[in-house]
Amino acid sequence: MAYGSIRGQLTRRAALFGGGVAVGVYAGAKLSSKLPPLVATRSLQAKGSVGTLNDASLLSETPVFKHIVMPENQGETLIAKLRAEMDEARTEGRPVNIGAARHSMGGHAIPENGHAITFDNGNLETDVGNLTYRVHPGARWSQIIATLDSQGMSPKVMQSNNDFGVAATFCVNAHGWPVPHGPMGATVKSFFLLRPDGELLRVSRDEFPEIFNLTMGGYGLAGAIIDMEVEMVPNKRLVPTFQQMPARDFAPFFVGAIEAGDVNMAYGRLNVDRETFFEDALMITYREEGDQLALPAASTSGAMSQAAARVFRAQLMNETAKDVRWWFESSLGPRIGAGEVTRNSLLNEPVVTLDDGDPTRTDILHEYFVPPARFADFVDACQEVIPSSYQEMLNITLRYVAPDRESVLSYAPGPRIACVMLFSQEMTVRAEADHRRMTEELIERTLDLGGTYYLPYRPHARVDQLRRGYPRVEEFVAAKRELDPDGLFRNMFWDTYLEGLG
Ligand SMILES: Cc1cc2nc3c(=O)[nH]c(=O)nc-3n(C[C@H](O)[C@H](O)[C@H](O)COP(=O)(O)OP(=O)(O)OC[C@H]3O[C@@H](n4cnc5c(N)ncnc54)[C@H](O)[C@@H]3O)c2cc1C
Repeated sequence: MAYGSIRGQLTRRAALFGGGVAVGVYAGAKLSSKLPPLVATRSLQAKGSVGTLNDASLLSETPVFKHIVMPENQGETLIAKLRAEMDEARTEGRPVNIGAARHSMGGHAIPENGHAITFDNGNLETDVGNLTYRVHPGARWSQIIATLDSQGMSPKVMQSNNDFGVAATFCVNAHGWPVPHGPMGATVKSFFLLRPDGELLRVSRDEFPEIFNLTMGGYGLAGAIIDMEVEMVPNKRLVPTFQQMPARDFAPFFVGAIEAGDVNMAYGRLNVDRETFFEDALMITYREEGDQLALPAASTSGAMSQAAARVFRAQLMNETAKDVRWWFESSLGPRIGAGEVTRNSLLNEPVVTLDDGDPTRTDILHEYFVPPARFADFVDACQEVIPSSYQEMLNITLRYVAPDRESVLSYAPGPRIACVMLFSQEMTVRAEADHRRMTEELIERTLDLGGTYYLPYRPHARVDQLRRGYPRVEEFVAAKRELDPDGLFRNMFWDTYLEGLG
């Protein structure tokens, strides 16, 4: 009886188990096609193959015919070398592109199967009387700051980091946090351009103004810049003021502070923890100290920046660390980081301070230019779109950009709040797809507010969004085709977006 009962149990269990297997096999066969394909988890990590170039996104690995570094000063030797390279490329039907730090994130400085050229020269001469300097187009801001600082001068407008090339900065028409200026192109007086047909032109607002406006923010498609004349300003000793406010109130405070006229550098931040995402804002404004004598030499990446970078990285997938970081910036920062500092020291920050050192992830930037009157609506849009994505946002910095009514591909037809976002992205197919989806949505919402997005980042915008955000893009393409009928100067930005237009 007992045996029979055990046997019965065993039999029932065996039957259940066996039945389970049968159902499992049947269900597996029926449903396996509905599971997410494993290809979505495929890594997009770059292979670093010989004969390829990548950019700061680490997602743009592209074959090039060759990559040449040219160290020559501005002048005849450099021009002759460039012309020879251009002639060879034209004869062979290959594209040419000049790049600098290749920090643009959509292959904007990579010519597929073409001749990639990098200048390596920091030559610079100041004209203190005219507050200008003549500079090699390949000079990096770290080199420029070093020379200007020794003469009591400072770049008028540059990005927030010092790694980038000066001609590259003009070609993306970058902006930074010196105020109350517009993009960097506004500070360029003239430049020499080797046109795609090999002719050398001096270009300024008076000489070939249409080429000036095409090259400013024109992503290197008008030809090679081989010399530049750029404005500078006196270096200053500055002191910061920190103010907190609700995020939706930020724009009027910020624009009001800048319009008051005594602010030299300014930026804002919003909190990024998911629970109270974008509810709080912090505004940091730097004004001149009374004592401007004996300025110390420009430093780089102080202890505060290094400590802040560690707290910054701890935020990855960690909501508590996001709160700590916000406390660090908004409460501790004003207490320990409120001392005087020179303008040049603030500008002299290398990108590497922020590096995460994780080979499976990459930092991706976005930037949106929002009319100040619509900033609160932009906050609403971001609250709806970003926390519901799979993307991990680590930072947003807010800046002021005065209007640019010169460049054909202008992103600031009126004053704008520039909203620079940093995401840490997993380097997989699914993360890339989700990032594209989120970016398209953010762009759409920003366009609806009368703003636009920045072009040097990932090529995730749709072509119709490019047309809406840059209404003169067809004019840009037509002018480029007239200047470069053979399409000699090309890069991935042209191939992805512009070749099919016009
Ligand atoms: C960490 C980080 C921070 C950033 N911060 C800011 C910021 O604060 N503000 C901002 O506006 N942008 C910012 N950017 C974007 C940045 O300004 C652009 O990506 C810029 O192009 C980077 O300079 P680069 O030297 O890497 O240029 P590259 O990517 O090498 O080149 C940019 C473009 O310039 C062209 N070019 C370069 N040199 C020449 C030349 N001599 N003749 C003709 N064409 C040329 C190239 O063909 C290319 O189209 C940031 C990017 C990163 C990755």
